[in-house]
Amino acid sequence: MSKEAEKHHCVIIGSGPAGYTAAIYAARANLKPILFTGEEPGGQLMITTDVENYPGYPEGVRGPEMMEDFKKQAMRFGTDVRGEMITKVDFTGPVHKIWTEAGQLIEADAAIISTGASAKWLGLESEQKFMNQGVSACAVCDGFFFKGLEVAVVGGGDTAAEESLYLSKLCPKVHLLVRRDELRASKIMAERVHKAENITVHWNTEAVEIFGESDVDGVRVINNKTKEESELAIKGFFVAIGHKPNTDIFSDWLDRNPAGYLLPVPGTAKTKIEGVFVSGDAADYTYRQAVTAAGTGCMAALDAERYLAEKGIV
Ligand code: NAP
Repeated sequence: MSKEAEKHHCVIIGSGPAGYTAAIYAARANLKPILFTGEEPGGQLMITTDVENYPGYPEGVRGPEMMEDFKKQAMRFGTDVRGEMITKVDFTGPVHKIWTEAGQLIEADAAIISTGASAKWLGLESEQKFMNQGVSACAVCDGFFFKGLEVAVVGGGDTAAEESLYLSKLCPKVHLLVRRDELRASKIMAERVHKAENITVHWNTEAVEIFGESDVDGVRVINNKTKEESELAIKGFFVAIGHKPNTDIFSDWLDRNPAGYLLPVPGTAKTKIEGVFVSGDAADYTYRQAVTAAGTGCMAALDAERYLAEKGIV
């Protein structure tokens, strides 16, 4: 670790589709970007099996493979990819200060935040065991693989309602496991859930264990009021108890919504701080798709490039 601050024109924090797309654009614009991967290199796609809705892959692609392709493409144009975590920033400006976990100070004329969001999990051992083999946190990504099969969804918010409704169009039966006796979801979403004939809501119900041989065969659940346990024969188990955007280190500097998502200037990747740009799921609480993340990564790099040119920095 050097004691001297390292100086760069463009620093990208995060390594999902947003970060790597920003890197591809910034590197091709000769900004010589440095990209810090964070502690989950590749982001949420690393825990996705097959990606079939990313344009350009007619046969689909495995999530980790796609992220390796993104990385290679970013490196091909000279991105300096570093497997480190950023733990602190100071956006007082005009030069932005960014510290790595090891304490190295990086000074950046432009900083692009692409730190993504992480799905929340229940914390069951069996959830880990069947990850990507029946357990998922994304119905839009993985629901198709459970076409014609029974599934369960955990959660009572809008995400759980949305995931259940999405799955109800593919699966003969969806079991929605809700830990209380009411949904937290908005009225309109709750009404849609109740109207769907093939969604059964299990109130006061929590998952105890997911079981099966190599794939999921079912879930053991408990009614937390009566303490009665029972089993549901399902092949897919979707956890929809919310996401947490990885934005805590920016809270002193940037505007966030109550759920913690960063708020860019509408229609841009800019923030209220000059030279700081946002992209991907860290600033997207609506769409959260790889392709939308990549799109906003491109926007962030183009906004950064224009900013650096306007300031006469590059
Ligand atoms: P959320 O509103 O925080 O809801 C999380 C749900 O998961 C709650 O029902 C919660 O139960 C349940 N839960 C949390 N931990 C659990 C656990 N360990 N075991 C079982 N259940 C657990 O999260 P969200 O649904 O992801 O929504 C986040 C925000 O995005 C919300 O503001 C939402 O309105 C918004 N959103 C909007 C849309 C849309 O408009 N189309 C779609 C998705 C999300 P409790 O109710 O008991 O706390």
